[in-house]
Amino acid sequence: MRDPDCIFCKIIDREIPTDLVYEDDQVVAFKDIQPRAKTHLLLIPRLHISSLEQLEQKHQHLISHMVLLLPTLAHNQGLYTGFRTIINTGLDGGQEIDHLHIHLLGGGSIE
Ligand code: AMP
Ligand code: ZN
Repeated sequence: MRDPDCIFCKIIDREIPTDLVYEDDQVVAFKDIQPRAKTHLLLIPRLHISSLEQLEQKHQHLISHMVLLLPTLAHNQGLYTGFRTIINTGLDGGQEIDHLHIHLLGGGSIE
């Protein structure tokens, strides 16, 4: 369920402080510590799933819940004209943190 060495599990357990924007019984969303757009959120499941590679049929409801939540999270950040979502997977996919997360970006680049 939880990986003791995982930064995002520690965020879920409030062991590492974060700028939380949303939580429910299945997911947590918070601001990325190194934002690459005016709005840059990370949406993660409470369950420690390393990446898309580890998804199973039993996670179907969880994943659809996450995807269905994205427009609401975007609207709550004032993003009404569109947003970008990114899921990095594995070493060659640029994934740095091995706890499944969806990047939600919008409002223009800050780089
Ligand atoms: P990825 O490269 O897809 O694994 O993205 C990991 C993201 O997590 C990066 O955009 C980091 O800036 C972000 N990140 C790492 N540590 C934290 C943290 N403590 N709080 C918020 N975001 C973080
Ligand atoms: Zn984790």
